[in-house]
Amino acid sequence: MAKITFYGAVGTVTGSKFMLELKDRKIMIDCGMFQGKKENRLMNWEPFPVPPQEIEKIILTHGHIDHSGYLPRFCKMGFSGDIHCTHSTADLCQILLRDSAHIQEEDARWANKKGYSKHDPARPLYTAEDAENALRLFKPYYYGEDFYFDSDYRLKFKDAGHLLGSAFVDIKNESDKPTRKIVFSGDIGRPRGQFLRDPVQIFNVDYLVLESTYGDRLHDPVNLYDEFARIIQRSFDRGGVLIIPAFAVGRTQTLLYMIRELEEAGRIPSLPVYVDSPMAVDTTDIFRRRIADMNLSSRLMTLEGTRIFRPAQLHLCKTRDDSKRINDVRSRAIIISSSGMATAGRILHHLAQRLPDPRNTVLFSGFQVEGTRGRSMLEGNRNVKIHGDSVPVKAHVESLLGFSGHADYNEILAWLHGFNKAPEKVFIVHGEPEASDALAQKIRDNLDWDAVIPHYGESFEIDL
Ligand SMILES: [Zn+2]
Ligand SMILES: [Zn+2]
Repeated sequence: MAKITFYGAVGTVTGSKFMLELKDRKIMIDCGMFQGKKENRLMNWEPFPVPPQEIEKIILTHGHIDHSGYLPRFCKMGFSGDIHCTHSTADLCQILLRDSAHIQEEDARWANKKGYSKHDPARPLYTAEDAENALRLFKPYYYGEDFYFDSDYRLKFKDAGHLLGSAFVDIKNESDKPTRKIVFSGDIGRPRGQFLRDPVQIFNVDYLVLESTYGDRLHDPVNLYDEFARIIQRSFDRGGVLIIPAFAVGRTQTLLYMIRELEEAGRIPSLPVYVDSPMAVDTTDIFRRRIADMNLSSRLMTLEGTRIFRPAQLHLCKTRDDSKRINDVRSRAIIISSSGMATAGRILHHLAQRLPDPRNTVLFSGFQVEGTRGRSMLEGNRNVKIHGDSVPVKAHVESLLGFSGHADYNEILAWLHGFNKAPEKVFIVHGEPEASDALAQKIRDNLDWDAVIPHYGESFEIDL
């Protein structure tokens, strides 16, 4: 008998951590940071229920911080085993974990300056050095490559189509016939993405750990290219600048790809595009190098010499001086910068400068959480506070939600319909309670499978 225990992404979309006990081995799938609400974030500071020294290895589904961001902390607490993931995930983690460490250190510094920490002095959850220690443990694999971590168990990564390098983790016990298999979905991407492959179909699954971020929602069926073209064209017609707050990893590259596509199809005029984020520039480099992890049409395009993330007039801005020079741009340009919800980062300077001009447009390219500047603008607030100043919002405010990297419930069900047999159990994780409940119910109604929603720390015996 084997055992699975849920130490994160239960009742929430963050903190993914699942421990698998196989014979006398303990392995963990994902090592994500809790984010969002304060009660969630405080969980990052708790001692882990199992001594990290006892965990032999960690297997990552993908690089997003809610799946990888606890690694430096876990290493600091004593974990020193291998970290397995795909090559692209390993590359992206170099950027994401270093950035995360930087944010932790900045937050601690800020708390000390303002004197609002309970600890005296405030400490970061982890440091840049902790992140480097974690990065040294990475052992990357290709999609589909077999890896035996035991004479019985083989591990394989299969494309989940959610982010460059994202994978379903497929662990199979081959010692007996029939073989037994558990699959961890990580986050599931959407079919027909811009340059990522569709989520791969998997078979012979006995246990499935399934995400449910969109378990109770469907994506807006708008045509993303049409809407995006319309917004760019209107901004151009007004002679204004289009400002797009966007996450540096994933979203920025999708935007660059689509702008180039629209431009080449003659659906929008060619415009100067400024990417103002060192992290986005470095990430775009990784995307260019990892073209093998994209769909065939993207690879064909690169074969034909198309630089798929390069609109004709692209300007990559890494330094502060590069960034400041964008201030001289008066009209008809696109500025992409982070953060995606306008909570921090260089985007704030651009917003402070551009929001008072009615010719300009701000386009939000992702869901805006309550309490963020992005949400406040979308709700029609005509004034936002930036760096202590009140800035009038005279620019147009638009939003395009179809960029989501998560399959909605119909897309998840369609994927499940491709299974060749019913899993013995489906564990629903990585969702707000309503979303997980809704998806579990749909799986019971549509497929008549056994779907359960685990609690924090809950264990299940499984036959693996
Ligand atoms: Zn993700
Ligand atoms: Zn996630």
